[in-house]
Formats: sequence, C-alpha cells, structure tokens
Amino acid sequence: MSDFTGKNVLVLGGSRGIGAAIVRRFAKGGGKVAFTYAGSKDAAAALAAETGGEAIRADSADRDELVRTVADRGKLDVIIINAGALVLGDPLTLDADAIDRMIDINVRAPYHASIEAARRMNDNGRIIVIGSVNADRMPFAGGAAYALTKSAIQGMVRGLARDFGERGITVNSIQPGPTDSDMNPADGPMAATMHSFMAIKRHARADEIAELAAYIAGPHGAMITGSMQTIDGGFGA
Ligand code: NDP
Repeated sequence: MSDFTGKNVLVLGGSRGIGAAIVRRFAKGGGKVAFTYAGSKDAAAALAAETGGEAIRADSADRDELVRTVADRGKLDVIIINAGALVLGDPLTLDADAIDRMIDINVRAPYHASIEAARRMNDNGRIIVIGSVNADRMPFAGGAAYALTKSAIQGMVRGLARDFGERGITVNSIQPGPTDSDMNPADGPMAATMHSFMAIKRHARADEIAELAAYIAGPHGAMITGSMQTIDGGFGA
C-alpha cells in the first residue's frame, strides 16, 4: 500500500461517493488529509471524525472561495479534484444556468484549483482530476454538456503536465465509468442501460477508484503524467 505519511493532501469534493473513498484511502495511508464539501455538512463531519481529516466548506463554483481554500493549505503534495456535477437531459429544454454551474464546477474549478495548488506545491507533487469515460464515449442522448466538461479536462491535463513537469509534478485525469454513488446508484433507473455498454457488467465501487488515485499519487506513479487513466469496466472499449 502506498505510504502517504506526512504528505499534505487536499481532496476537493470529499464528503460523499468517490471523493469520500479517496479521503479514506489517503487517510489510511497516513496522509494529512483535508477535504471540501458544498452542502453535506453532516456527512462531511462524520467523515472527518472517522478519518481524522479536516472538513472545509468551500463551493467549487465560487472561484474566490476555491482559490483561497487551496492557497490556505500551503505546500500541498497531492491535490485531487473530484467535485463534480451531472446535468443530463434534452439540451433544448435544460436550464442554461444549471449547465453553466456544471461548467463552473467541472471545468473552471479544476483549472483554477490546479494552478493555485501548483504555485506552492512541493516538487514531485501530484495533481489528479476525476474526469469521466464520457470524455471519450457518450453512448446515450442527453449528456452532451456533461461530456463537454469532462473532455475539457483532457486538454487541461495534457497542457499542465508540460507546464509543471520540470518540477516533477504530475498531472493526470482518472476517468471512471459507472461507479456506485449518490450521483449514479448501482440500483438506479439507468443502471441496466449502462451495464449494457460494459464488458464487466457492474458499477465500480468507489474504493476501486480511490486505489487508482493512490497508485498515481504514490512513488510508482512518478512517470505517469499528461494521461487519462480510464477505469470503466470496458464502457469505452
Ligand atoms: P456524488 O454526487 O456522489 O458526490 C459528489 C461530491 O462532490 C460530494 O462530496 C459533493 O459535496 C462534492 N461537490 C459537488 N459539488 C460541489 C461544489 N460545488 N463544491 C464542493 N464540493 C462539491 O458524485 P460521485 O462521487 O459519483 O462523483 C465524483 C466525481 O466522479 C465527479 O466529478 C463525477 O463527475 C465523476 N464521475 C462519477 C461517475 C459515477 O458513475 N459516479 C462516473 C464518472 C465520473 P456535497 O456532499 O457537499 O454536495
């Protein structure tokens, strides 16, 4: 198991789902873990008590609040940008403000948080953004805007890997497929349709995604940069 003892770790959007599994994984590995949340105060407090991590209320859609939160953590070793929104539906009738908020959370926040983290990040630091296999494949209607946000991450990751490589800082995206969470429950109405696209016909568990994040952030991940690490049960195959 990768050892994060003494490492300064920040997870953006860590109160539930994949983010919470990541908080648990890095805390178990000995990291000094802080995580943000937007609305789930009770879940965040419970996770902080369980893991010894620090919960910070910070809305990723608020750029000033986000940047201040990242800057306040000082010299980070690892930042994992997980907070995400999902707005699906007929693009002709979807609420434009909801789409713009999703773009703020899924695209603008990862960019500004990555830059702010890199300003004072330790050498050989790790920037990991939770993207989605929908950046590569959107096999059903109603997901154009979400796919747009996740494919934008790919360009950012490639570019920032070049910007920060000289300091040994790696920049990568993890692209999950269907993963059991409040956003996408394994027993939800879309589950059977999603499994029909997959080689391994089940939702991933959040801890499976967290383990990949730990590998990328650990010592064996030093040469993985500018890459998309897809973990999707063959959804995109
Ligand atoms: P959940 O909805 O279960 O959890 C989302 C987490 O992000 C919560 O901790 C939530 O905090 C936080 N969050 C959301 N919006 C904000 C915000 N504005 N500011 C701060 N924190 C915020 O989602 P998942 O765990 O399923 O998804 C996590 C990431 O993985 C997302 O980026 C998603 O797009 C991506 N993903 C998920 C897949 C899936 O099948 N589940 C598949 C592919 C990618 P709070 O509790 O306070 O609301």
